[in-house]
Amino acid sequence: MQYISTRGGAQPLGFCDATLAGLAPDGGLFVPETYPVLSQETLASLVGRPFEAMAYTVLSRFAAGELPEVALKADIDAAMGSFTHIARTPLVQVGPDHFIMELFHGPTLAFKDVAMQTLARLMDRILKERGRRATIVTATSGDTGAAAAEAFRGAANIDVFILYPDGRVSDVQRRQMTTIADDNIHTLAVAGDFDDCQRIVKALFVDRAFNEKVAMSGVNSINWARVAAQITYYLFAALALGGPQRKVAFSVPTGNFGDILAGYVAHKMGLPIEKLIIATNQNDILDRASRTGRYVPGTVSPSTSPSMDIQVSSNFERLVFDLSGRNAASIAERMADPRTGFALTEAELAEMKTLFASGRADDEDTRRQIGRTYAETGLIVDPHTAVGLKAAAEADLPAGTPIVTLSTAHPAKFPDAVEAGCGRRPVQPERLEKVMTDPERSTKVAADVAAVAAIVLERARAVTA
Ligand SMILES: *Cc1c(COP(=O)(O)O)cnc(C)c1O
Repeated sequence: MQYISTRGGAQPLGFCDATLAGLAPDGGLFVPETYPVLSQETLASLVGRPFEAMAYTVLSRFAAGELPEVALKADIDAAMGSFTHIARTPLVQVGPDHFIMELFHGPTLAFKDVAMQTLARLMDRILKERGRRATIVTATSGDTGAAAAEAFRGAANIDVFILYPDGRVSDVQRRQMTTIADDNIHTLAVAGDFDDCQRIVKALFVDRAFNEKVAMSGVNSINWARVAAQITYYLFAALALGGPQRKVAFSVPTGNFGDILAGYVAHKMGLPIEKLIIATNQNDILDRASRTGRYVPGTVSPSTSPSMDIQVSSNFERLVFDLSGRNAASIAERMADPRTGFALTEAELAEMKTLFASGRADDEDTRRQIGRTYAETGLIVDPHTAVGLKAAAEADLPAGTPIVTLSTAHPAKFPDAVEAGCGRRPVQPERLEKVMTDPERSTKVAADVAAVAAIVLERARAVTA
């Protein structure tokens, strides 16, 4: 299977090359030339199978012969083996037709572990086979960096540089990155917001000379392999709730549009989905875009669900590419400057609304939702999950449609917001205790491309070795 750039200016690549590249060299995002389809029989045959079996079915379609079956299965098993719950992504019922899918049983207690644990193993395997080294430079609003640091720690062939907005990630999130002692993990505290971090990473990617010198790879949510790894849990939930015969809806707390894009691709692959609900906090660019068709970046407003404090939603480009009839020229034109925004055509917006709806929760809504969920079910949920729960409660769905809210983080990652909402302090899982006491290590840097480039060049083994 070949992967093409949404902006049409890059050489098509196979799965392994697209995985190592992350972002396409023309600034676009890789997408499969066509979506593989799982027949209704194949989906039905997966009902009741373990998560790992479903993951293999999905990922093998995207890797399409480039990775041996034994290797891919071993990597999936090892990745999901880092989860402490035997079901990996268990469902918990919170209403007659409403379920929460807990995606936070991995090493950093957030949903990004699902994809990152898988990606790290695939990348290390591909590099080892090729006798190469790579450098990862990634931007994080908190959870990506933690997940990357955990997943790649000690990797023999990969150095990881993590840019996070100084002072804008929670203590737990910061400590999960900065307490990793392995020499190949470098945390950079950037004097700016998440969008600054993301802008710097994108600039380094499109700088050909730099990119080649450090053998740059990307693990942000734009990496196709991450999207692919996330598709599995949409199957997992839908097949547990009556799929493929019955349509299921999902409410997805969204920032960079990566998680919900995986649901969209699951739908494209043949999974019956009634609606995908885009759930945003007060940084509601995607809620506004899905209502009006106008994607207009504002300024980031720090919220109690910081992993969604985003005004540039990179993965949305993949959806718009499809909505446009895969018109790369129109995407290249509309996405040229991420700060100026763009509009969907009327036809594109109408098409989008056939599958997507949206909702919004500000900090006050989020606080109240945490309290309501606790009062009604006894469950303590994190603020990101609460944003999803509110959007799910307000969703307009055919009677009897099951809806699954993706629970993207463990409440112990955001104890203050949780306590403000329900009056209870979440119990700290064992995994967090060490993180809260180990010494921290990080480097402060200006929100400046050249400053970050200098640090990477000085430290990356792909350059210095
Ligand atoms: C990253 C993250 C999100 C948003 O995911 P996207 O793929 O960026 O939409 C939501 N919740 C948590 C806890 C996250 O870490």
